[in-house]
Formats: sequence, structure tokens, C-alpha cells
Amino acid sequence: MGDPHLIRNLVDGALQPPREDRWLDVFEPATGAVFARCPDSGSGDLDDAVAAASRAFPAWAALPASERAGFLHRLAALVEGELEELAWLESRDSGKPVALARRLDIPRAVANLRFFAEAVTQWPGESHAPDPVTLNYTLRQPLGAVACISPWNLPLYLFTWKIAPALATGNTVVAKPSEVTPCTAARLGELAIAAGFPAGVLNIVHGTGPRIGQALVEHPAIEAVSFTGSTRTGAAIAAAAAGSFRKVSLEMGGKNPAIVFADAELSDADLDTIVRSGFANQGEICLCGSRLLVERPIYEAFKARYLERVKALVVGDPEDPASDLGALVSRTHFDKVTAAISRARAEGARVLCGGEAVRVEGRCANGWFVAPTVIEGLPNASATNQEEIFGPLVALIPFDGEAEAIAIANDSRYGLAASVWTSHLDRAHRVAAALECGIVWINCWLQRDLRTPFGGVKQSGVGREGGVEALRFFTEPKNICIRTR
Ligand code: NAD
Repeated sequence: MGDPHLIRNLVDGALQPPREDRWLDVFEPATGAVFARCPDSGSGDLDDAVAAASRAFPAWAALPASERAGFLHRLAALVEGELEELAWLESRDSGKPVALARRLDIPRAVANLRFFAEAVTQWPGESHAPDPVTLNYTLRQPLGAVACISPWNLPLYLFTWKIAPALATGNTVVAKPSEVTPCTAARLGELAIAAGFPAGVLNIVHGTGPRIGQALVEHPAIEAVSFTGSTRTGAAIAAAAAGSFRKVSLEMGGKNPAIVFADAELSDADLDTIVRSGFANQGEICLCGSRLLVERPIYEAFKARYLERVKALVVGDPEDPASDLGALVSRTHFDKVTAAISRARAEGARVLCGGEAVRVEGRCANGWFVAPTVIEGLPNASATNQEEIFGPLVALIPFDGEAEAIAIANDSRYGLAASVWTSHLDRAHRVAAALECGIVWINCWLQRDLRTPFGGVKQSGVGREGGVEALRFFTEPKNICIRTR
């Protein structure tokens, strides 16, 4: 391999190396080798980016929404035109199968850009029925320079999910992608230049969370922070933002239940969906169901059908179309997931399949692969069933009746998403209403309508993204009251 690819920051419309010439290694998870370097940016880079965003704000905010939407549409078309290259890059950077990036990550990034371009032009204003003496209406005005901070699991997908509504509503952005997977966001920055975005409207600074992320959140000229990542980082961001009273949206961890009732009529395709809901993207999706609650009368029969499918999943080279699971994103995360499997064993779990690292021969011999792992025998109160593991580990938990299912599902500090499998409509509505979480899928999983509110409760989130919720977050309402008599 030649020299690693050097990623640069996007500051004020130009690609810039980090001022202090400090760089971070970017690893290919499938091989364990360094394939790129990204800036380890410092306060000088951040100050430049924030100053550029602040300068660009008035003119960008003053553009008609349809013109801002035009830039996003042009960017979407450029991303779509590079779908194949971006899918390969995303896979190389994150370890996920190329096929998944091609089917999910990159098309969804395109959809995010298009969706918010259209949403902002279709967003009705608010006026209030006049009373005898006044007429009221509400303006929604952009905030200024805002921070968008994204994680490594769905890199371009979640990056665009934040920057698109921020830009569409007239804000300028300083974005920080995960230092673990910076490559597709960096390419997006280059495509934004090609799309003709005015200088300073979108700035991308790369670097570590503690160094540049924290400084971004604390920067006095940043008006709001939209964050997706771990609950621990979310808490640090909430604390850092509290003193300056800036707006914060936090999308954080989960320990999601999938609940299978004995009355569910599960086709083979449904079983495949339930398997995917645990193991898609190596289990590294915040919405994956890691606690699989199964009603006792069908527990053994369900387990047999389920395990047959999980055992058939192929762990392998992400470039191989036959691979269902690729590599875990980093050595650190690989160590965390394998330690969680050891802890499950120590807690008394029976490992029904998987339970170990996988060696993939050939170019991937040093990659960070873990077998899809299913366990049983642990109470919901165990650390395994309470802590987010964010890897290919699913725990089966039997339950007796609806009330117990709800109690187990809600016995968590998290509350992001749940899926419920039942053929009784009344039960579906009852259980959905009783679950403490932000999203409930009935007889499906990861069906995403971008108009719907997205986010979690308890320690999974504060605020909502998606649709009008995102447009609201990135704007400030202002009431105008006119005397009419
Ligand atoms: P992380 O919290 O370690 O990092 C997320 C981002 O925050 C990165 O860009 C990181 O550099 C930055 N960061 C770290 N410390 C910071 C600080 N002190 N100040 C500012 N920024 C900081 O999360 P991760 O490991 O990249 O991602 C995995 C986590 O993300 C999991 O917990 C997962 O559940 C969660 N996640 C949640 C959602 C959701 O929508 N709720 C979606 C995807 C991932």
C-alpha cells in the first residue's frame, strides 16, 4: 500500500491541513491497517471554522429557502453520482459490508439531503386566529453558526441527517465527524465545494472528541449543538452547554427490546427481519434490538428457528458480497465487545451460538471480526442486559404475558426504540403506548419515514430529530403581535 490518504478540514470553502500539523491514524477495520490520516485539529482550526461560519451566516440566512434547497439538491446529486465509490469508502473506513453501505448508508445520505431540501420549502408558517384586537404570527428564524457532531456507526448517513436540516433552515455549520470514520464526511466536504456552497456555510473540522469536540461545544460563537453518540459523551456535552444556555439535541445509546408474543404469525421473512434487527451492521446500530423477549409458550420453537438463521450468517471480508457481517469498527470496540461476551459468560449466560472472535483468512487475517452471538439464561437485571454493548450480541429473555413483557422492556435506563411482534391489533396499540421509548415498530424494524420524530427518552435522548422536529430545533420561534384595532 502507498502512503495513507491525507484528509483535510473544510474551512471557509477551502480544504486545509491542520494548523499544528498533527494527524490521527485512520484504520481499515477489516485488515487492521492504517489507510488514511485525518487532522487532529486544535483550537486554531476551530476558531477559523467558527469565524468563517459566523461570517457566512447573514447572507446564507437571507437566501430564499428554495435557493438553499437548490444547493442541497446539487450536493445530493453529486453524492448519488458517487454512490459506488462512497459505499466502498464507507465500508473500508467502518468495516461494514460494502453491500450494506450501497443499500443503506449512501442512499440514505442522499435521501436526507433531498428530504430536508424539500421539507424546508414546504414548511408552513404559523399564524394564530385573530382575537378582537390583535393578530399573531410566529417567525421561525435560523440560529447562527451551529455544531453538528456525529458518531462512527453510520458515518455519512448520520452526518447528513444533521447538516441537512441545519443548512436548509438557514444556519451555517461547523461539523465534526467521528475521528474513527472521517472519510466519507471529508469527501462530502469536497463535493460541497463542487456543489458551489458559499464559503463558510459548511465547515468540517476533524479531530478527537476531547480535544476538538469539547472545544466546539464550548465555543462562545456556537449557537446550538446537535449530537449523536454515546450517553457518556452526551452527558459531557449537556454539562458543557448548560452554562451558556445554548440549545442541545442529544441522540444517545440504547438497549432496545424486541418483543415476540406467542400470537405473532412469523413468516420466514419476519424471522429474517428479527435476525437483522439484532445483527445488521454487526449490531452497531443504535436501533438494534439487543434484548430479545420471547413469550414462554413459543420460546423453544422460536429459539430453534432463530438460531438456525443466526448460525447461517456469514462473517467475512466486507468487500465480499456474501458477507452478512463485516468487521467491528476499531480495535478498542472489538476489545469492548469481546470483554462483554466474557462478562456474559461470567454472569452465567449460556452461549447458544458465536461467542468468539472470528479469523477471516487472506487480506483480512488481522481484522476485528466477532461472530454473531446469542445467549440465554441471564435476568434482565444483569449487566449484560443493562449496559449498551453495541455489537453482535443478542440475549434471549423469556416472559409470561403482556404485563411482564412491558415491565422487562421498560426496566432499562435507556429508551430509544422497541419492536413488537404480534398479530393482535389491540395488543399492538396497548403495548406500544406503554413502552418507555421514542420509537416503536410493530411487526417490522428500521422502517424509517423521514417525516416522523426520531429520538429517545430517558438516557437515550433529549429532543427529537426528523421532519418538522429537526426544522424546529434548528430555528428559534419569534412571536409577532400586531394590534388590529
Ligand atoms: P462517542 O460518544 O464516543 O462519539 C460521538 C462523537 O462525539 C464523535 O464525533 C466524538 O469525537 C465526539 N465526542 C467525543 N467526546 C466528546 C466531547 N467531550 N465533546 C464533544 N464531542 C465529543 O460515540 P461513538 O462511539 O462514536 O458512537 C457510538 C454511540 O453512538 C453508541 O452509544 C450509540 O448508541 C450511539 N448512537 C446513537 C444514535 C441515536 O440516534 N440515538 C445513533 C447512532 C449511534
